Amino acid sequence: MKIISSPKEMKEFSASMKAEGKKIALVPTMGALHNGHLSLIDIARQNADIVVVSIFVNPTQFGPNEDYDKYPRQLQADAEKCEEHNADVIFAPTPDEIYLKDASTFVNEEQISQHLCGKSRPKHFRGVTTVVTILFNIVKPDVAVFGEKDAQQVSIIERMVRDLFMDVQIIRAPIIREESGLALSSRNKYMTKMEQDGATRIRKALLAGKELVDTGVTNLDRIKALVIHKVTDAKTRVIYVEVVDAKTSLPISELNIGKSRISIAVWYGETRLIDNIII
Ligand code: AMP
Repeated sequence: MKIISSPKEMKEFSASMKAEGKKIALVPTMGALHNGHLSLIDIARQNADIVVVSIFVNPTQFGPNEDYDKYPRQLQADAEKCEEHNADVIFAPTPDEIYLKDASTFVNEEQISQHLCGKSRPKHFRGVTTVVTILFNIVKPDVAVFGEKDAQQVSIIERMVRDLFMDVQIIRAPIIREESGLALSSRNKYMTKMEQDGATRIRKALLAGKELVDTGVTNLDRIKALVIHKVTDAKTRVIYVEVVDAKTSLPISELNIGKSRISIAVWYGETRLIDNIII
């Protein structure tokens, strides 16, 4: 497995693979890899000849008071995991290699990103779409794998790829969880064991919402109210609970059974967590 940091070298590597007719898959991550990320690498492996995992804590997707500085960075441990999962390349550039000092161009999706996490993290998705475009331009993947843990993010990426006629196929990967139900996240590291136990109420609340729908309830306010009630304890601050279209992540006014999603974001103590469930 190669570790490449220079965008120029990454471009040259991709060009040489393409010249040999190889299909390239990209798995974009911010590192601190866990089994959720590794499942994406496995899916990429099944869909391409060459698997590139990018590891880049992207400054432009963090707000001024967010956790950019304290975000976990552990390239050595990540490299071992990538190797075990048969990745071919880790692309791990520095911020200076990705963003020139006077860079002034951004990619902005302007509809889906207005909702859900876009409301409380105003420039977050602009940072995501910009860095994903840059990564696509450097790595030139035929396919890219994104997790449904960040369902709104993958909806926005799909919209961007469609709107800008990008030649890359987007694959959605299912959410990987702890046995407790807690969705795996690099940010789970911020929580104590007790908080991680408490945060399992997020999954339980989503399941309660789904069960309500399974009993025949379709009123969106009732579904949301139940989820908010179930998720709330002394450590929970609900950022949003919304019922959205499962594919586009846009708000809906009527439930479409099997094609809708409950999306949730909370502060659990000092940690911002998101999760979702198809209903
Ligand atoms: P991140 O490193 O948090 O930017 O995530 C990189 C990719 O891994 C994104 O496509 C995420 O949606 C995906 N991912 C993160 N956590 C999970 C999980 N628990 N299950 C599946 N995919 C995940």
